[in-house]
Amino acid sequence: MNKLDKEKYMALLDKGYEDMPETTRSTERWEIPKADIEYEGKTTVIKNWKYIMDELNRDEKRLFKKMCKELGVAGDIKSSSGRAILKSIVKRHSLNNFIKKYCQDYVICPTCSKPDTIITKDGRNHVLVCQACGTRRIIKL
Ligand SMILES: [Zn+2]
Repeated sequence: MNKLDKEKYMALLDKGYEDMPETTRSTERWEIPKADIEYEGKTTVIKNWKYIMDELNRDEKRLFKKMCKELGVAGDIKSSSGRAILKSIVKRHSLNNFIKKYCQDYVICPTCSKPDTIITKDGRNHVLVCQACGTRRIIKL
């Protein structure tokens, strides 16, 4: 390729990038994370706990407490290994059902279905605020 052609080529490349919508990444469909588990004796190890927490972006301890309560189990978060241990055998689909319901109630925007939400306090209420479309919904934590 001679110099002139190369310049043309680079210019075309630049143009190509400019034409690409900037929102490509943010409109990617977000998927509810699924638990990756294994059983050790009579315990259930959630191997990708940290990943799930990163995706959900919520208060880890509060979420874990709620999960244990709903599943009727005791457990611990092992921050050093990014895992969580439940002290009994919990079926994968029970865990995933919990995560799914949690996301529907506390993470996903009811209007635009995006997970770009935060929880703030408004007086006595907790409010789920969508940073993508601005929807506010009072929630019960
Ligand atoms: Zn929204």
